[in-house]
Formats: sequence, structure tokens, C-alpha cells
Amino acid sequence: MKTYKIALIKGDGIGPEIIDEAVKVLDSVASCFDFDFEYEEALMGGCAYDVTGDPLPQETINIALNSDAVLFGAIGGVKWDKLPREKRPESGLLRFRKELGVYANLRPAVVYDELINASSLKPSVVKGVDLMVVRELIGGIYFGEPKGRDENKGWNTMVYTRDEIVRIAHQAFKIAMTRSKKVCSIDKANVLDVSQLWREVVEDVAKEYPEVELSHMYVDNAAMQLIRDPKQFDVMLTGNIFGDILSDEASMLSGSIGLLPSASVGAKIGVYEPIHGSAPDIAGQGIANPIATIASASMMLRYALGENEAADKIDNAIKRALKEGYRTKDLAAYDAKEVCSTSEMGSIIANYAAK
Ligand code: NAD
Repeated sequence: MKTYKIALIKGDGIGPEIIDEAVKVLDSVASCFDFDFEYEEALMGGCAYDVTGDPLPQETINIALNSDAVLFGAIGGVKWDKLPREKRPESGLLRFRKELGVYANLRPAVVYDELINASSLKPSVVKGVDLMVVRELIGGIYFGEPKGRDENKGWNTMVYTRDEIVRIAHQAFKIAMTRSKKVCSIDKANVLDVSQLWREVVEDVAKEYPEVELSHMYVDNAAMQLIRDPKQFDVMLTGNIFGDILSDEASMLSGSIGLLPSASVGAKIGVYEPIHGSAPDIAGQGIANPIATIASASMMLRYALGENEAADKIDNAIKRALKEGYRTKDLAAYDAKEVCSTSEMGSIIANYAAK
């Protein structure tokens, strides 16, 4: 029997409620296989600040580094909004990603048939969408030097080194090999020198993956194509700022923020988390949608632990729960047969995942 060590960071707001459901589903699916989980909880965000005066205590980093993967809820809330920037929950999260060295952010956007009416686009456009944005996370214009501002001028610098492009490109091609074997690399090579290098390097890396079909697209066109015909994409490979914008755009194809998982990977330890925040407006009411976090746990099984069969079981259980008309309150308007609480939804998915 294999035991995986999982660092659990529940965080603030709805974080604890949704992580509890993901744990329920993980334990349930593990009962069908020859592995189990050992969880260690760690504090981050406002709750960590309240206890230790630091939104990211060193102990949390140690626990994460000593695990096989990190399952993360969400952090933040108005209570901590007035703190100095370095004490705010969000600073803890950025520092955490940097400390772990997770340079690749994977964001799938999947449109579930049962929720097709929840999308703001026509069903014929979004039906069958299943794409993955692979975004570089710790380089590019958000980190480049020089940066600064004075009263009349502000400046930032978009820098990528060959090595940074090589490693994120490998991530994208490897993921494409497990999917439909198509990578579309997004840049602005008609204007930016940094994008010209990006394109050259991606083409070099592509030679190592002859089965994968590579195309290139300018970012402005990609923003338009995502709305016009999102089904043309399988893996979209992007730098930091382009991916930040396009992954949010892609996430709305599915219609609800409560459905979408993400993974931040690249280093030894990956962080698996829903794309939404701590939703303080609904915290403690038992109405949060746990599906994004449960789907993040599935990504953890697939990408961190290589337990693809277990991940498939969770993905199928989510689909089945939606197909049978179970909805949390955020999706109650879309063909609900039964509106259920956070914990009921977790139990339904856990039950299906064990079958
Ligand atoms: P949010 O994602 O928390 O909430 C936006 C809206 O979506 C709210 O109406 C919320 O109720 C709803 N929502 C979010 N998740 C849901 C779910 N699982 N089920 C049902 N409804 C859901 O974004 P926000 O309101 O802008 O931010 C709230 C706090 O979260 C802030 O402190 C922000 O800094 C923080 N935040 C944290 C992360 C993170 O931890 N990774 C990400 C984004 C925002």
C-alpha cells in the first residue's frame, strides 16, 4: 500500500468548507485502489496572520516541501485588506508560489454538457470545449527589471530567457501528449522582440515532440478566437501576462467560477487549487460549490501522483452528479433537479467516485 503525503492548506472564507469535500472524495476514490493519503494541515493567508503575524509562516513552507503535493483552498477577506502589503494574505500566496518554484500554471476550461446554458456564449459554440491554458507563472512582465514609476511615467519590462521558455514549452508539449496532441503558442511576435525569441525557442522544443502539432497565434487574435471558436484549441501555451488574461477569458466559457480547477507545477512539489477566491460573501453558509476544488484534487492525482485512473473516476463522478441534476446554489438556475449544500455535493461525488 502506497501512502501519499498531502499538505492541506485550507485558508480563509470558503477554503475550509471546499477542502473538506475534496478530502472526502480523495479518501473515497482511494478505497478503490492500492494507495491512501496522509494529510498535514498548514496555515496560510488571513488565518495564518491571525495566529502567527505572518500570512506565510515558515512552517507552512516546510510542510509543503515535505509533501508529495499541496491541495490549496483559497485565502483573503476584507478583514485583512487594510494590512500593509507584505502582511496581506495575497502576498503570502505569491511568496509561496515563488518559494516552491512553480513556474507553470495549468488551467483547464471544460464545458460540461449539462451546464451548457450557464455559458454566456451560444451552446453550439461551447459544446464540447475542452482546452488547457499552460501559462508561465514566475517570469515575464510581472517580474522583469527595470520597473518603476515617477509622477509622469510608469514602466515595466517584459523579459524572457531561453531557459525560461524552454521549460514552460516542455510542460505544454508533455501535457499535449496526454491530450489531443495540439499546442497553440500565443505571442505578439509581430511587435515584440521577446515574442520573437519565444517563437523561435518553442519551435526548437517542438522538434522533440514530433507527434504534437504546433501552431502560433498572436495574442489579440487568440482573444478573439477563444470567443469565436474555442473548440479549435487543445493546449494554449502562453507567457505570464497573456496567460493571465486568456485563462480568465477561457474560464468563463464554462459559465461558473465554482467549477474550474488549476495546478501550479514545474518544481518538485505542485500546488492544486480552484481558480476562485475565498468568497467571503458566502462563507460559512454551506452553499459554496466544491467542484472546482474536487477537480483540482483530480488534477493532483493525475499530474503529481500519476494516478490517472483515480483521476478519471473523480472527473466522471463530477460529470455524473451534474448529469443527474445535482446543483449547488450558484448553478441552481441551470436544469437543477435537486439543489444541494456544499457537503451534500461532496458526498454525492465521493459516492460516485468509489463505484
Ligand atoms: P471570489 O472568487 O472569492 O468570489 C467572486 C464571486 O464568485 C463571489 O460572488 C463568490 O460568492 C462567487 N464564488 C467564488 N467561488 C465560489 C464557489 N466555489 N461557489 C459558489 N460561488 C463562488 O473573488 P473576490 O470576491 O474578488 O475575492 C474574495 C477574496 O478572495 C479576496 O480577498 C481576494 O483577494 C481573494 N482571492 C483569493 C484567491 C486565491 O486564494 N487563489 C484568488 C482570487 C481572489
